[in-house]
Amino acid sequence: MECTKCDKDAVMHAAYSGNYLCETHFLRSVERRVRRRVREDDLLPETATPEDPETWVVGLSGGKDSVVLTDILQDTFAEDPRVEMVALTIHEGIEGYRDESLDACVDLVEDLGLRHEVVAYADEFDLEMDDVAEQDPENMAPCAYCGVFRRDILSRYAEELGADKLLTGHNLDDEAETALMNVLEGNVEQMAKHFDASIGAFDERQDVEGMIPRAKPLRDVPEKEVALYAQLRELPVHMAECPHASESFRGTLQDLLLDLEEHHPGTRHSIMAGYEEFAALAAEKYRGDADDDAESVGECSECGAPTTREVCRKCYLVDAVHAAE
Ligand code: SF4
Ligand code: ZN
Repeated sequence: MECTKCDKDAVMHAAYSGNYLCETHFLRSVERRVRRRVREDDLLPETATPEDPETWVVGLSGGKDSVVLTDILQDTFAEDPRVEMVALTIHEGIEGYRDESLDACVDLVEDLGLRHEVVAYADEFDLEMDDVAEQDPENMAPCAYCGVFRRDILSRYAEELGADKLLTGHNLDDEAETALMNVLEGNVEQMAKHFDASIGAFDERQDVEGMIPRAKPLRDVPEKEVALYAQLRELPVHMAECPHASESFRGTLQDLLLDLEEHHPGTRHSIMAGYEEFAALAAEKYRGDADDDAESVGECSECGAPTTREVCRKCYLVDAVHAAE
């Protein structure tokens, strides 16, 4: 087939838009969507100046999503004195997985000339995810521990690095899966958190518990297109999946969405369009509740992190893993 925009051979067909695109027009269309997101989500406010630039911390795992996001952002903002970018990689201690993906990260940041910080669970918590999965003192999925540890590192390091925004590489499929999951689980509070963690206007979110605003500039790009972009640009990407991945419900939704998309192109986009409105209403409601609860937030007696308990969830889990050793 010929490209819809020129007479070259198409490398892809986007059923949801009806477009066939050649390599050049495809690459351009992905980049345009990311830049539009940066604009529409107001990532770069007018207050950012060469004298007082914004610091963006980009979560870089070495997987295709974060590699493509980092590459496009650096391509767009490397010469812009209003933005300083730092790539942050978390090393969980997963044999045969993280070392390889760290290599991909190092290749990329060297290529782009980007500042890179690597933070390891071993140094931070004196544990590795492989041991956590084996000990499993709380009888949970490995990802349930890992998510708590990761969030702790992201928020502490984002603060330490002086981040104005924390950017992650979630793509359209990830976001539509999370949206569906929240709806099917009837979890309105989670919808509110999801909204505050990625979608909607920053100025309304600035004061959510002093949280550093998150952004997901890749959230309009389907997963397949992210993979094709990485392949065509020959970006260093680590493809393997974490051996502890076990999100079975998410996996089911992933299959369901792919099937829906095949028979009803555009489903992911329409899910997100409607969901964002719902989630905004949910966020408004829960923000009000959070203000009421704010007084009960104290400091963790072990690490000083904000928590409503004596010891925060992260310290509780770290202690539980060490006690089981
Ligand atoms: Fe951690 Fe789960 Fe991701 Fe593996 S799949 S890195 S265990 S959150
Ligand atoms: Zn703590």
